Amino acid sequence: MAHLTRLLLATRNRGKLREITRILEGLPLEVVGLGEFPDFPPVEETGETFLENALLKARAAASFAGLPSLADDSGLEVDALRGAPGVMSSRYAGKEGDDAANVARLLREMEGIPEKRRGARFVCVLVLAHPDGRWVSLEGTCRGRIATSPRGTGGFGYDPVFIPEGMDRTMAQLSLEEKNALSHRGAALRALREMLEKREPSWLWES
Ligand code: IMP
Repeated sequence: MAHLTRLLLATRNRGKLREITRILEGLPLEVVGLGEFPDFPPVEETGETFLENALLKARAAASFAGLPSLADDSGLEVDALRGAPGVMSSRYAGKEGDDAANVARLLREMEGIPEKRRGARFVCVLVLAHPDGRWVSLEGTCRGRIATSPRGTGGFGYDPVFIPEGMDRTMAQLSLEEKNALSHRGAALRALREMLEKREPSWLWES
């Protein structure tokens, strides 16, 4: 059997794991989950940018496991809020991962702001890190605007109040296929796939 390069996915989020595993199908990689490293401690996301946080997670996993590791960080940047919630996206209302409270706070902050000033973008940064310290990053973005009230039941996070550019439905009203085709994470993952198909970065494939 051909030699497979091992790659650790440094996320415990099942949805992300599924998406990433699917995009890597067919490449000569043996994808490993954090489940194989139950003692890997949670990484505190203390960075001020998505890149810093993704780097923190990818580097911590790579040096813990001694394997090339892939991590991501993502969030919403709203123009009228000068980029907030940004790296605070998952804890904007105080509690980690409370989507409904985060959306409620966002709508409160945006109250009275007219449609033409409700522009925003989702950002996803992926970092692939080698245990020897080398790393590479990829970014995907998705522009749109913030709705005045939530619509739709699909997706997660801010999807019910995010209307992608050129659409009149919110991200939560799209099918998963439609969302992946235009989302920040979809774009970053496609860029990752393109890079890996070219057998880049060379240090990943050397070992
Ligand atoms: P993390 O990348 O898991 O740290 O996610 C950060 C936060 O950004 C999530 O908890 C959501 O609030 C928000 N977010 C990231 N990606 C999306 C998305 O595709 N839809 C809606 N919200 C998102």
